[in-house]
Amino acid sequence: MSVTFTSRNKMKPKTAEAMSQLLCEIRKALPLDRSDILLCRRVCIGCPKKLIQYLRREVEDWEWALAQGDQPSLGDISSLAKTSRKIYKALEKNGLVAS
Ligand code: SF4
Repeated sequence: MSVTFTSRNKMKPKTAEAMSQLLCEIRKALPLDRSDILLCRRVCIGCPKKLIQYLRREVEDWEWALAQGDQPSLGDISSLAKTSRKIYKALEKNGLVAS
């Protein structure tokens, strides 16, 4: 998963737009709604079920906050991007996302 915030445009996106883009990228790259991950049928490295549940909650909380007009900080965006990359790598090790 590659998450970047640099734009070729001269203007930097507002933080809410950047967070919204990040949430879309996370939803595209990570199987947040795949029910088979929550069935515990695998030999696991880490716990994909708990990681996905955690990330889904984070994404849904931010989607709700943005809908309320909240402005995330750059730290919020950076933190969520970092967490998402770590979770993606964990899912990759479990064969749940493409390498
Ligand atoms: S480690 Fe997590 S995902 Fe794997 S079987 Fe246990 S509870 Fe399920």
